[in-house]
Amino acid sequence: MIRARQLFGPGPGNPYPEATAALGLPILGHLDPLFIAMMDETCDMLREVWGTQNQRTIPLSATGSAGMEAAFVNTVEPGDVVVVAVNGLFGQRMVEVASRCGAEVVAVEHEWGLPVDVDRVLSAHPSPKIVAAVHAETSTGVRSDVAALGAGKGDALLLVDAVTSIGGLELRADDWGVDLGYAGTQKCLGVPPGLAPFTISERAFARRVERPRSWYLDLGLLGGYVGEAASSGGGRTYHHTAPVAMVASLHAGLRRILDEGLPAVWARHEEAGRILQEGLQARGLELFAAEGHRLPDLTTVVVPEGVDSAAVRRLLLERHGIEIGAGAGPYAASVWRIGLMGHNARPDAALTVLAALDDVLA
Ligand code: PLP
Repeated sequence: MIRARQLFGPGPGNPYPEATAALGLPILGHLDPLFIAMMDETCDMLREVWGTQNQRTIPLSATGSAGMEAAFVNTVEPGDVVVVAVNGLFGQRMVEVASRCGAEVVAVEHEWGLPVDVDRVLSAHPSPKIVAAVHAETSTGVRSDVAALGAGKGDALLLVDAVTSIGGLELRADDWGVDLGYAGTQKCLGVPPGLAPFTISERAFARRVERPRSWYLDLGLLGGYVGEAASSGGGRTYHHTAPVAMVASLHAGLRRILDEGLPAVWARHEEAGRILQEGLQARGLELFAAEGHRLPDLTTVVVPEGVDSAAVRRLLLERHGIEIGAGAGPYAASVWRIGLMGHNARPDAALTVLAALDDVLA
């Protein structure tokens, strides 16, 4: 028997009820006109949460990491220079993925807990093909300034990981000059894990690799999957079987967010994060991420001296049914990660975590 949990870790969070309910809708054929209409609406709503007009804005049929792979495999030819801002685990993953695509990677390393140093990243190479950065580093709880990267990117393509920002934090891909973006459904979008919302500008698409090493993630082929050909009279073509239940869930989650309104959703995340962070500090706990750059939706806390990090997490789960995350990488045992994302970005959820921590730390 699976018990319900309160998912206050780095993701997945508890989905919006509407997104969960949609998983029980009748399963449609993936070329059924009803499903095609649902996919079209999903892409329209994704454009809104990305803040983009990009025609090529689609839910890839895999998790956020596949979005990362799609971004690099479609744009990197062997020998292309890719500058990657590394201020946590997911920047490191970008380095790994870009180098597997044959890139000459210039990794600009930062101390974990700090935001991306825009000047250092932009001056790391005179003419990179791609500059890549993580908007919201889930491993450290830090937000970086994507708009500043976009303003200074020059001829480079700007590639951004928005897995932990989309649907929870201000995100304006077009205004900020984002050429390639990928995300996940399981965080602030409030949908179960399984899809990777993806967007690519015309400028980046024009510079893509003609025949990428990945067939599944080939954006040229995926155009037909989402009906790009339909507007030119071609109609939808089979590429792979769309995960129809997941698309239905994403459709419902996006509808839920847009009905509330993006600014209201962002404000709700800010408020929940503020209550949690102020409450933690009032209890004498230290926050890990640099002040002024903290994510509202993912809070990193320094485990106090003498406290067994894993034992606290186990007690939270056993006594309260609450999941929080361990730290990432070198901070696995010395940091906790607490997420208030999507449906969980609420004051009462923040107070629930604080009360449970009071209990287990007593
Ligand atoms: N990028 C960031 C910032 C993430 O937080 C995650 C997952 O937590 C990923 C990429 C990878 O996404 P997934 O685990 O859905 O493949």
